[in-house]
Amino acid sequence: MIFYSTRTSDLTASLEEAVFRSLPPDNGLYMPEYIPQVSKEFLNDIENRSFKEIAVEITKTLLGDDIPLEDITELINNAYDFEAPVVQITPEDYVLELFHGPSMAFKDFGARFMAALMSYFLLRSQKQIHILVATSGDTGGAVAQGFYKVPGITVTILYPEGKVSEIQEKQLTTLGYNVNALEIDGTFDDCQRLVKEAFLDSELTSRFNLASANSINIARLIPQSFYFFSAYAQLKKLGKPLVFSVPSGNFGNLSAGILAYRMGLPVERFIAATNINNSVPRYLENGIFKPEPSVETISNAMDVGNPSNFVRLTRFFDDDWNLVKSKVSGYYFNDEQTRKAMREIFGNTNYVVCPHTAVAYLGLKSYRQENNKNFTGVFLSTAHPAKFIDLVEETLGKSIEVPERLQKLLSIEKKSTKMKPDFTSFKKLLMNNL
Ligand SMILES: *Cc1c(COP(=O)(O)O)cnc(C)c1O
Repeated sequence: MIFYSTRTSDLTASLEEAVFRSLPPDNGLYMPEYIPQVSKEFLNDIENRSFKEIAVEITKTLLGDDIPLEDITELINNAYDFEAPVVQITPEDYVLELFHGPSMAFKDFGARFMAALMSYFLLRSQKQIHILVATSGDTGGAVAQGFYKVPGITVTILYPEGKVSEIQEKQLTTLGYNVNALEIDGTFDDCQRLVKEAFLDSELTSRFNLASANSINIARLIPQSFYFFSAYAQLKKLGKPLVFSVPSGNFGNLSAGILAYRMGLPVERFIAATNINNSVPRYLENGIFKPEPSVETISNAMDVGNPSNFVRLTRFFDDDWNLVKSKVSGYYFNDEQTRKAMREIFGNTNYVVCPHTAVAYLGLKSYRQENNKNFTGVFLSTAHPAKFIDLVEETLGKSIEVPERLQKLLSIEKKSTKMKPDFTSFKKLLMNNL
């Protein structure tokens, strides 16, 4: 597969180049040059395939010219010792649980695949790389876990001070070894800007083999399509069209769903569900994309004012607003509505959700109220509720169960370096310390 830049279509890269460069030199985003289709036979008996078999098939369809099938199979086996089960919540609605990976958030699907793919290429080239990643909370943990002790790779994670939960912070500040954490006195957008600037700085890029692990990396995007296919496999027997509600921030997750759709997955509609950082739902209303500074909410992994994957999202529809609208509906909710939804789900079903998942639930509910159609609803649960334990317990007014592996983390002391959000300090730190 050849990848092209969204800004300059003849600026192309191989898979290996796209994965290690992360961003094209013109600061666009890499996109596959064409969208290959999954076969009819595959969709016809997809319900008989395991998550890993589905992942192998999708990878083969997209990257079969770049990696031999045996290596794809090994890579998928190394990446995934967890799955994405659907759980029924109401007679018509299901939750797709994406929190069974090592950091208990959906970003494990992308991070594990990317780590396996990078180490596959590094083993052959004997290179050393330095990964820079900005996190609004869950990326950091997933990347830290994904790359921990992977030979040839150093990881530096930037996160906004005081804006991630205690468990999230512990997940990225307690591993050590090849994983460094920078605590930035600023917002997630500041962290993301610093990383982007580093990639455009010729002094840094000539000294280090920099790579990114953000959702802008194509190696994160591709594997996030696997669970849309897997959800379809699990729900196909119901024989109804599927509507996916995706709780969104940087819009990597939803873009991956649209990639799956463009590859041939039958999907009736996608719902872009956000908190009040609503630049995409507003774009869907009026056709104007107007990024805003990010605003803090209780679903903090979605506090993104200028979603980097917006360009991909629209490119999958040839940048045609009417085409986007024909497949994607947008809704946004404030914190009060989110808390109410968390209580409502728990009250009705005894099922505990994190605030991000509650936003997805609300999106699906709004869509159902507006569309009297017969469909199966799937809302994506992007994190385990215990990752946001204080907020969840306070909202529900009861204590919830914490999985043992999260419990253990809390007793380990954090190690981070504090930094102002300016590029000069960041560059100096990278140049001196590494
Ligand atoms: C990252 C994250 C999101 C947002 O996903 P995007 O791909 O950035 O839209 C939603 N929920 C949780 C829990 C996350 O960690």
